[in-house]
Amino acid sequence: MPSFSHTIPQLAQTLAQRWENYLKCGDFEVFVEFALSLNGLSEQLKRLHLAGLVRACQELENLALSLFGDESTHPVAPEHSKAIAQQLGVILTELHRQEAPATPARRICDTPENPQENWQRPRRVLIISQHGHPWSISLAEQLRFFGFTADTRHEASPPGNGEPPLAIVFIPDEASAEPHADNTVEQIGKLRNCFPTSYIYCLAVPLNLESIVLRQRAGADACIPATNTAGDVLSRILDLAETGEQDVHRVLVVEDSATAIAHIRRSLSQHGIDSMAINDPRKLLETAADYRPDAILMDMYMPFCTGVEVTSALRQIPEFQALPVIYLSSETDIVQQVEALRLGGDQFLTKPVNPIILASVVKTKIERYREMLYAGRHDSLTGLLNHATSKSQLKTMLHSVSATGKLVVAMLDIDRFKLINDNYGHPVGDQVIRSLAWLLRGRLRSSDLIGRYGGEEFIIALPNLNLERAISLLNQIREDFGALPHAHAHGALHATFSCGIAALPDYQTTSTLIQAADDALLEAKRNGRNRVIQAVKAD
Ligand code: GH3
Ligand code: MG
Ligand code: MG
Ligand code: MG
Repeated sequence: MPSFSHTIPQLAQTLAQRWENYLKCGDFEVFVEFALSLNGLSEQLKRLHLAGLVRACQELENLALSLFGDESTHPVAPEHSKAIAQQLGVILTELHRQEAPATPARRICDTPENPQENWQRPRRVLIISQHGHPWSISLAEQLRFFGFTADTRHEASPPGNGEPPLAIVFIPDEASAEPHADNTVEQIGKLRNCFPTSYIYCLAVPLNLESIVLRQRAGADACIPATNTAGDVLSRILDLAETGEQDVHRVLVVEDSATAIAHIRRSLSQHGIDSMAINDPRKLLETAADYRPDAILMDMYMPFCTGVEVTSALRQIPEFQALPVIYLSSETDIVQQVEALRLGGDQFLTKPVNPIILASVVKTKIERYREMLYAGRHDSLTGLLNHATSKSQLKTMLHSVSATGKLVVAMLDIDRFKLINDNYGHPVGDQVIRSLAWLLRGRLRSSDLIGRYGGEEFIIALPNLNLERAISLLNQIREDFGALPHAHAHGALHATFSCGIAALPDYQTTSTLIQAADDALLEAKRNGRNRVIQAVKAD
């Protein structure tokens, strides 16, 4: 059902099919289906950061929406139909050209059998800069460490037949710092034309609105201010490559009318949103605890109580305090609407709701909500789980692996880190912490837990992995980290870490696993650092 899980080629095929159907019959309903699948495709492309294609899709979506009308306005006039066909042709050709689009690779080695395999396939980054620019040299070197291939060129040139680069980093010449920088803007435009599906970063952008707007208009997806360093772009490229499968959006519909439920759930499902409905608000708490929705669509008038009463009751429970609540009602009275929002609702939609508006409001609210949850659970320097969340997730993980009984917990601590801070400054220290975080993110499976446990201390939990494999994987990461150069004002430094591990079945609870791994870590420090030591269970 959810179009979310469909692959791009499938979505493209559906889109083409629906357009053909519309050309045959000219029905409004079929046009709506076409617009919906277009929306689904652009959502999917957006998730894959195929910026150029997203833009093309959204343009077509806007055109389709402007022609939406109703039964009486279909079929659309031949010139409109021609315009749609033309734009659709461009999109389909581009999708076809890269049958296997530049899908950002998952984290590596998702098979437990192969824990040391490197990135699934090298992701390419194209750097456009003046010959020998110091940023491009260090960026290329760092990127290679994290499993990318980096090509540096002086100018944009049309791609060959190969897969387009995941990202393009444009480093302008020194001379082009003023806002207009016609040459810079022109080069970005050229890059955008050559690589419609790559994510374009423009570095050294002067901090004024005009400069940013001109570069975005030319096709830059991200403008990195001149005050930032090339290191910032590295972190953003890693984030770009990380975007994996996203959880399906889950919506709980609280509504007493069966017809309204059917209509809403159909609209949601056409946008890949999973839903569940209850017709009695008294079932809300237990259903929400079970289903764990990301948002609630709440009818205003129901038997027993109103949607506003339900929402303010829901807000009394800590875990639902921030859950988005969107009211659905035929209510047109402004005073009532304001009152409903004041009492804890997030948005008011008037029934019958346009399905595209409904889905986009729901998705926007859910994204914001998830961002908020994410910020509360993750560490801002590294993007890893924070201390509290690492511990609670370890508990959950321990629970879920008990059937197979395989779980390895590791504690890592950077060696003599205080010296790095003292000798090179805190910002360089921060960068070393971040690099280790990135290396871990790149090398471990998406099912593994990686957290920042404290300042320069990390926790890792590897489910369903043999102890020997875990040890050799951690040793490999340890060696690679030791070889990684960290830039500072006068060159590069190297750092190492020590690691202690403990595993099931020797240690059975989260606290004993963590304690034993921590003791082993201390042992590793005592034995000279830069090593991995396994906890020995005392008899
Ligand atoms: P050891 O090999 O025994 O682990 O020595 P160490 O110097 O790494 O250990 P110590 O615990 O003495 O020092 C850790 C230092 O890490 C102290 C603290 O100022 C620094 N630190 C903690 N959090 C951060 C951070 O977020 N950024 C930076 N730059 N430094 C941090
Ligand atoms: Mg009702
Ligand atoms: Mg340390
Ligand atoms: Mg420490």
